[in-house]
Amino acid sequence: MKTMLTIVAGLLISASAAAQRPADKPQACWVETSAATMDGAMGGAGLRDTKIWHSTISGVLVRDAKSDVLIDTGFGPNAEAQMNELPAPARAFGSQVVSGAKDRKSIVDALASVDEQPSQVTRILITHAHYDHLGGATQLAAPIYISPAEVTWMAVQTTHPTITPPSLIAAVKPRLKVLSYDSGPYLGFKKSKDIYGDGTIVVVPLPGHTPGSQGLFVKLGRRNVFLIGDAADTLEAAERGLPKSPAIRSNTDSEPELADTTTKQIADFHRAHPDIAIVPAHDRVAYTNVFGNPSTCVADFH
Ligand SMILES: [Zn+2]
Repeated sequence: MKTMLTIVAGLLISASAAAQRPADKPQACWVETSAATMDGAMGGAGLRDTKIWHSTISGVLVRDAKSDVLIDTGFGPNAEAQMNELPAPARAFGSQVVSGAKDRKSIVDALASVDEQPSQVTRILITHAHYDHLGGATQLAAPIYISPAEVTWMAVQTTHPTITPPSLIAAVKPRLKVLSYDSGPYLGFKKSKDIYGDGTIVVVPLPGHTPGSQGLFVKLGRRNVFLIGDAADTLEAAERGLPKSPAIRSNTDSEPELADTTTKQIADFHRAHPDIAIVPAHDRVAYTNVFGNPSTCVADFH
């Protein structure tokens, strides 16, 4: 009897999840795996209005009738232990990042909070191959799409790691797929990849933080969201083109000058397209502007 009730309850839950799914209109969900509060000085260099950096480690799930695409995946379950694979300075910085991430939950639990089973995720797109974006992919089975430049950089990390643990790369390697930017210019970016050819998800290169870092435009009703990964750490830094804080810049940007140029490019983009909502991967306020709250799905926003 108990088993029967469990089955019925399970059916009811999946029915309500199915009812929430859009027929063909894209819907995006905020899947948060951790949140923390930091001094605003860590979030960007120079004079800033941002006094407190409300940081997050999050992914965005984009689903419609044709696919369920997860953009970024948070930490993997072995993040602490994997820091031991890195050279001393990176190990110390990385251990601080991992231990500073509060209320951590796995990407599987974060997906469950929006009624998404791991097996429903058909593709994973990552903004860049750092452990706080790629790690959770080890708990899923979908192919992982990255840029050609990131594939080359990851290969070097396997023998000379500076920030990404080799065992993480080894775990995801069989599922890596290379994304070619062959869809032509897009909103001022010279190259792009329109994943489905319908403008739902368009990927553009944002090099500097890693050589193959990429940003993703997601079309939600009347407005576009621009997920910029770690090209800037706060919304203010992105909109004003501020460089990263010295500590984060020196510990995480593979090519700091190029990363600064890319951040300025994003600020120019913002001036040209103020209606497009920029979401730096680690700025909780930027996600709140689009989604309201974690574990929330939206098909449109204002
Ligand atoms: Zn990051």
